Amino acid sequence: MTGDCMACDLIADPSTLPGGRIAETDRWVVEHCVGPLGAGTLILKPIRHVTAVADLTDDEAAELGPLLRRCSRLAAELVGAEQVYNTLWSHAGGVPGHVHYVIQPVTREQVASTGVYGPVLQMQMFVSGTAPDPAAVTAVCDAARELWARMAS
Ligand SMILES: [Zn+2]
Repeated sequence: MTGDCMACDLIADPSTLPGGRIAETDRWVVEHCVGPLGAGTLILKPIRHVTAVADLTDDEAAELGPLLRRCSRLAAELVGAEQVYNTLWSHAGGVPGHVHYVIQPVTREQVASTGVYGPVLQMQMFVSGTAPDPAAVTAVCDAARELWARMAS
């Protein structure tokens, strides 16, 4: 599906993706988040347009756990995170959308400076709407591709 789904559009044409595609398997892609969740926040999403985890194929589901772990290790290393959130809302505009896990590294300094964490931190970042510096995203994506290639699955 393209046209009505930003996730599919970015898969079809990763040249429009800030920082470019980070990694891919036969069934999943790893990208940098386009939202205001900070440099180093990753997106893991199935290549196939699917709007519910319950609808993943057996092969997609078998890859999911190892990929979430690998993406979480990657995100942590990219920014020196103390914790890495894995969230999936995929309810864009109140309707089920292309599922995508948000893998957000959070540092001790970030929690100390904002005084919040967990879903409150994530919501605060969405409300502020402060997009990460494009140059920082490019740099973190370059580092992510290099780290991904060196990591065991
Ligand atoms: Zn889609």
